[in-house]
Amino acid sequence: MAAFGSVFMPEMAMARFDGANWGQSAIVPSDSISLHPGAHVLHYASTCFEGLKAFRHEDGSVAIFRMDKNIARMQQSSELLSLPKFDAALLSQMIIDIVRHYAADVPTPPGSMYIRPTHIGTEPAIGKAATPTLTSLLYVLLSPVGDYFAGGSRGLRLLMEDNARCAPHMGMIKSGGNYASALYPTMQAKAKYQADQVLFCPNGDVQETGAANFLLIDGNEIITKALDASFLHGVTRDTILTLARDLGMKVSERELTVEELLERAAKPGTEAALSGTAAVLAPVGTLIHQGKEYKVGNGEPGSTTAKLRQTLNDIQWGKTADTHGWLTKI
Ligand code: PMP
Repeated sequence: MAAFGSVFMPEMAMARFDGANWGQSAIVPSDSISLHPGAHVLHYASTCFEGLKAFRHEDGSVAIFRMDKNIARMQQSSELLSLPKFDAALLSQMIIDIVRHYAADVPTPPGSMYIRPTHIGTEPAIGKAATPTLTSLLYVLLSPVGDYFAGGSRGLRLLMEDNARCAPHMGMIKSGGNYASALYPTMQAKAKYQADQVLFCPNGDVQETGAANFLLIDGNEIITKALDASFLHGVTRDTILTLARDLGMKVSERELTVEELLERAAKPGTEAALSGTAAVLAPVGTLIHQGKEYKVGNGEPGSTTAKLRQTLNDIQWGKTADTHGWLTKI
């Protein structure tokens, strides 16, 4: 199967902000856009994006998972990057239009249609290093996908680093620059430790990886960092915590230090997982810290992680009732 996110549907939904108003959104070819080489985004990284999924149900219908929460996060990212504001209604219409356009192409589970809304500053203005773009482009790409982590549910290897993923006030913004910052340490971790991801732990504070949130599962308790500006407020994180509460688990959103994590990980039965739209809930098998390897529990994917992942998939795939109203049927 092609690499995650490397296949695109041939058309996308697109709308332009001309400095005063948003134009009508339209469905246009997705193979290229035309930008001035001096466009704000190409120099000053005025860009943010989202990632969400549409699923095919057994009756043939298609449902988008937690669209509203993703749109709200994108509005917040746009605002914090001083990109033009847009109404939630504009983006939800664009998402629904393009998913409907390709409804027949939404893969069956475990595949899905990955939805990538993107917002970029287009004003040709290289003098605006410290001034926002006046104009922008909003578009929604679609990419049919399977499993994100090759190998499915093997335990991932995470290298714990003392560095931050990005500037501390930028973490909650889903912006390209944050991903660029995380690339070099991630490539180093792969080359030196055969790690799948870096778990960023600035000043001993366990935050997140380059593409997912981190959850520690110790018996009936699930522990993860409390929301602040330093990391991405994952929609999957919120979903898993809600499902964990539904299942009677104790949810602790609080600081988790490297020390406490390593101590708890050593206990048999402890589990750790990465949550994200692409990763869903992926078990972590090994933590690498200062050159030493630590197994999480027995190093094998755990049963609570598998149960939470299945509970989430069952809702996404329409197999159990959507009691929280997370699905938008199109
Ligand atoms: N953190 C980072 C850095 C991410 O890129 C992602 C994936 N979007 C997440 C966390 C998880 O967010 P979500 O559950 O909304 O996909």
